[in-house]
Amino acid sequence: MNAHAPIAATECGVAVRAERGQRAVFCGLTGIVWLHRKIQDAFFLVVGSRTCAHLIQSAAGVMIFAEPRFATAIIDERDLAGLADMNEELDRVVTRLIERRPDIRLLFLVGSCPSEVIKLDLSRAALRLSQRLAPAVRVLNYSGSGIETTFTQGEDACLAALVPALPETAATRDLLVVGALADVVEDQFTRLFSDLGIAARFLPARRADQMPAVGRGTRFLLAQPFLADTARALEERGAHRIAAPFPLGAEGTTAWLHAAAEAFGVDGRRFETVTAPGLRRARQALAAHAEKLAGKRVFFFPDSQLEVPLARFLAREMGVELIEIGTPYLHRAHLAAEIDWLPGGTPVVEGQSLDDGLDRCRAARPDLTVCGLGLANPLEAEGLTTKWSIELLFTPIQGYEQAGDLAELFARPLVRRARLEV
Ligand code: SF4
Repeated sequence: MNAHAPIAATECGVAVRAERGQRAVFCGLTGIVWLHRKIQDAFFLVVGSRTCAHLIQSAAGVMIFAEPRFATAIIDERDLAGLADMNEELDRVVTRLIERRPDIRLLFLVGSCPSEVIKLDLSRAALRLSQRLAPAVRVLNYSGSGIETTFTQGEDACLAALVPALPETAATRDLLVVGALADVVEDQFTRLFSDLGIAARFLPARRADQMPAVGRGTRFLLAQPFLADTARALEERGAHRIAAPFPLGAEGTTAWLHAAAEAFGVDGRRFETVTAPGLRRARQALAAHAEKLAGKRVFFFPDSQLEVPLARFLAREMGVELIEIGTPYLHRAHLAAEIDWLPGGTPVVEGQSLDDGLDRCRAARPDLTVCGLGLANPLEAEGLTTKWSIELLFTPIQGYEQAGDLAELFARPLVRRARLEV
């Protein structure tokens, strides 16, 4: 079978191609690392194997220093052999957890490869436990399994699970911003929207009882490009998406804010007055890194689904030359504005076969390769300079005040390599 689908050229001349084959990405459990920090009274109980527990502990353990709000209920050999009643065991684990941690208001049962393989019905378990623990604790479920998913889909699945539980509203005044953002970024956007006269609410909220309401008049703006299921769930509740690029870099942030301003009828002069100081600071911060990045050739392996907006930022604001943008999934509607902004002829590969991608990357010898952790070490050993794409999820990068940090994340490995060569 031919693993390569035909190339589809978009109107702007960007060549989008789908490829199939082996991939090297983390599973959706990884999203717990940033989600458990974001929703401060939530707990994520992974129903999985020891491998799942190790993944979460090592991914989160080295990145955070707070009391963990995640754990793994281990499915062992007895469970896999069908010798134990998994539902009874799960109820026992959850009861013990809630007794020990009365601060938990929202409990996510997170499915994994093993729980999917043994077909454990976590939605029924969540319903049963929710009824038992209401009103103090709400129990929801989603899958973070690595079967056919990539790591940012964990956030998408988590937020999509929240949507049916959001309160109903008929109000049309508020803007709903969708996607987990660092608190500092959320506070900056709240201030900017407020100066524009727009009351913004965020999904997810920081606490379970502050989740935003949604209804037929709700207009929402995606803050992350990997929220296909969440957007669909919101649309099923009657909400409308405001089409926009993503708030990465000075230009992306301005266009993102502008899309909301237009939807809410904000006067053009007011928009300029509110955004000008941030835009100026962002441009100044970017200028400090321009020399290090301009003219550098960059290759993206598919990993986080942030690849297209990041590549657009690097090409348009930092003068980078894009060799190839691999992305695990390409939501053509959500990314339409981003694709329009890519330089004509940029190859965009959805899916990507790992071996073919590696061949092309090695042949191109890029100045910088953006890839997952698993590929970074071998490519560094071959003399290529790499950037871990997962770092872009753990670092606040959206908005004007973070634009300089975003550029620096890409400049840093180049500077390090230059020093090593000297
Ligand atoms: Fe591995 Fe699957 Fe568990 Fe992820 S969910 S850690 S891919 S077994």
